Order: sequence, then structure tokens, then C-alpha cells
Amino acid sequence: MKDDFALLLKALYFSAQKHRHQRRKDTAASPFINHPIEVANLLWTVGEVCDATTITAAILHDTIEDTDTTCEELRVNFGDEVLGLVLEVSDDKNLPKQERKRKQIVHSPNLSKSAKLIKLADKISNVHDIAFAPPDQWSLQRRIDYLQWAEAVVAGLRGINENLEKHFDKTLVSARQKLDEENQEDPGPVIPLSTI
Ligand code: ZN
Repeated sequence: MKDDFALLLKALYFSAQKHRHQRRKDTAASPFINHPIEVANLLWTVGEVCDATTITAAILHDTIEDTDTTCEELRVNFGDEVLGLVLEVSDDKNLPKQERKRKQIVHSPNLSKSAKLIKLADKISNVHDIAFAPPDQWSLQRRIDYLQWAEAVVAGLRGINENLEKHFDKTLVSARQKLDEENQEDPGPVIPLSTI
């Protein structure tokens, strides 16, 4: 128990340091670290996932993909198991974006159970943000497409944690409602009848 707390606090400190210059791309420019903390919190509170390795990997899940963190750093500080989980949920940044997105759909059914849990909580957090705190530059269509893609990735993660899966489904429904409302408020350019 004491060791678990020590590991979690170390991961929080490490992740906060690594992400310290990053902000989410929403209007409020929220600190990036809010995101991994939210993912870990969803696992704990919604998913009732209580093992220290999974929660630690959740806190660190974007360090390889989005910061200068090396595999060796994670191995030395947190061990092979945590490193393995972080690698499982990290995209290969050498690949083009569309290929990375396609691979997530294809590979999600093959992930370990802990990696599936982290990815599921990650998608809940992202789907919520894409609807309610979106990146400023994203068009409505891009946000709609993101939700569709996230749904396809999550299809490969099902059957492991009912609470998280239901929470994802609810989040997706409210996200789509939000985008529908925005679409109705701004239906795009109105073409005068005489030109049709
Ligand atoms: Zn993430």
C-alpha cells in the first residue's frame, strides 16, 4: 500500500514535469496534465480499477507520445510492466497520421486488458473534450469524424469493464447531441432558393 502511494506520487510528479509546457488546445488552454489525471481518475472511480500498475501507467500514458520521455526513463523509474503498458497505448509517431489512426482501430482488440482499460478511459476523456472543450482550430466536421473514429476504436476494447463501456456510451451520446445542437445553430451558408 505504502509502495503503491509512492509509485503513484512519483508518476504524478514525473508526468507533471514532462508535460509542464503543454496545454490542451481548448479555448481555456487547460494544463495538459489535467488529461492524464482525469484518465487515472476515471479508471479508479468509474471503472473501479485499483491496481497501482494500471493507474500509474494511465498517469504516464502520453509521456512517450507527447514529450521527450524515453523508454529507458520509464523503465528505470517505473519498471518494465508500466513501460510495456505505456508503449501499448502509444502511437508510432513516425507513421503518417491517418495510418496511426487506422492502426488504433486494428490493434485495439489485441491489447492487454490493462492497456484496453487505459485506452477506454482515454477515449472517454477525449470524446468529452472534443464536444465540450474542443481545440479552437477544429471544424465541426473534424469533430464529428473524431467521434466516429473513437467509436470504432472502442468497439475493439469492449467486454472488459462494463462501467467504463457504459460511461463511454453515455459520453458519446451527449457529445453527439452537443455537436448536433451546434450544427443547428450554425447550419452553414444558406443558399438562396432562386439559385437552386
Ligand atoms: Zn491521452
